[in-house]
Amino acid sequence: MSFSHLGLSPKVLSAVTAAGFETPTPIQNQAIPHAVAGRDVLGIAQTGTGKTASFVLPMLTRLERGRARARMPRSLILEPTRELAAQVAEHFETLGKNHKLTVALLIGGVSYEDQDRKLDRGADVVIATPGRLLDHFERGKLLLNGIEIHVVDEADRMLDMGFIPDIERICKLLPFTRQTLFFSATMPPEIQRLADKFLHNPARVEVAPQATAAATIVQRLKRAPDDPAAKREALRALMREIDVKNAIIFCNRKKDVGILFRSLQRHGFSVGALHGDMDQRQRMATLDAFRNGQIAFLAASDVAARGLDIPDVSHIFNYDVPIHPEDYVHRIGRTGRAGREGYAAMLVTPRDMKALKAIEKLLRQDIEWIDGPQTEAEDAEGFDARSNGRHRRGRRGNRNKGGQAPQDGHGNVQRHDTQAQDKGEERRTEHSGRREKSGDPKRDQHKPHHHGDRKPTHGPQAAASSERPAPARATAKPQPQPPRPKQQGMGDHVPAFMMRPVRVT
Ligand code: ADP
Ligand code: MG
Repeated sequence: MSFSHLGLSPKVLSAVTAAGFETPTPIQNQAIPHAVAGRDVLGIAQTGTGKTASFVLPMLTRLERGRARARMPRSLILEPTRELAAQVAEHFETLGKNHKLTVALLIGGVSYEDQDRKLDRGADVVIATPGRLLDHFERGKLLLNGIEIHVVDEADRMLDMGFIPDIERICKLLPFTRQTLFFSATMPPEIQRLADKFLHNPARVEVAPQATAAATIVQRLKRAPDDPAAKREALRALMREIDVKNAIIFCNRKKDVGILFRSLQRHGFSVGALHGDMDQRQRMATLDAFRNGQIAFLAASDVAARGLDIPDVSHIFNYDVPIHPEDYVHRIGRTGRAGREGYAAMLVTPRDMKALKAIEKLLRQDIEWIDGPQTEAEDAEGFDARSNGRHRRGRRGNRNKGGQAPQDGHGNVQRHDTQAQDKGEERRTEHSGRREKSGDPKRDQHKPHHHGDRKPTHGPQAAASSERPAPARATAKPQPQPPRPKQQGMGDHVPAFMMRPVRVT
């Protein structure tokens, strides 16, 4: 099977050959003929399956006829991040080398002047992030009524990043008769709604079943403690255990990307960081260094890494279990690309069990643990009975000792503790009503204290760590607890973590 039967023009085919593409990927095979014929296309395929060329190649073919007028681009590609927009522009450069099309890249973090000049001269193709596109539009630098082809790429990430209102606004500014091509790795209901609204009788092209991880990826789980320092150590152990060529390490929060980056650097790892707060130049430089092997590890947040085209990642480490299960699929999609073998390992703390379950449900498979299968105690009680799996000590005791009753005399103390942990935590899991409305005056008394105490540190983890001094490994033995009488709230006991001096970071 080659590209020649897809209806692409000779100029395009010659560039495809020059780019070294021999056979079309499944999504290219199925989407390109419809797109070349001018039909709307809804393309769903996981990350790394060649979606970009699925729209770039037919666009090039269709744009051969006619030319751009000043400030009236003929096609518009929306991308959720600057990096992705820049990557698509690179595709145009490579695959459009036989065309004299003008491409304008409208992304944030870059001056308006160059972008204005491009638009003034007449751009055939505009590749933009939604915000910057609307900025240009509002400044009157750009008319959208000449758009013949509109692409919304990485639609599910657009959703995650809150761009749906912008996209709806943009779609309404485009001529009704345009062609619309929609690409996404997953198809959440909100994206389906958007597609239903803005696509006309689309050819729906779905390659892999929704949200399946590539079969070439070995996936593993590793138990890890909540305490940040101990968790970082668990990560380093994992990174050393496995023969890693290069890897992306994903964190849920950009703050943690920074912390992890500096920590790995201190421990002598060759590492870079990629998160949303970095300026465009820094991000590009880091990415380049990673691509050409100057740095072996890249600590990244989801937003920064979405859809990045890094062909050769041997490993993915999930430092955090992602909150949205789809993100897991995207993250591990950075390895095992184009049929190569990939490896993805994820650290799982007791409180992550619920999120892990959601991932396994989405994947329709259980992921294997590196250090032995999950115990029944973990499953039954840590995850379900306690909704968020936060009662670490009780569960830990259970796993290691086998069957200590969870609701013992310390239940209240522990619960109080976890409530305090919640206060400082970024909202990431739903709370059970039970914990929210405790109404115990003694507990409430302590609340401000918790707050002041832990604000500068890492909230939940900081509290946890002082209570149970940083275990080096996930399998650390629980601390013995002195027997105590049944009591309400904390009674007279003041946990050690509340007595710690304030650390200002
Ligand atoms: P997606 O958008 O689906 O995540 P990309 O379009 O970024 O994936 O493509 C991933 C990688 O695969 C890129 O490096 C791209 O150059 C390469 N690629 C795409 N199509 C082909 C093909 N037909 N043959 C070989 N490599 C390809
Ligand atoms: Mg893509």
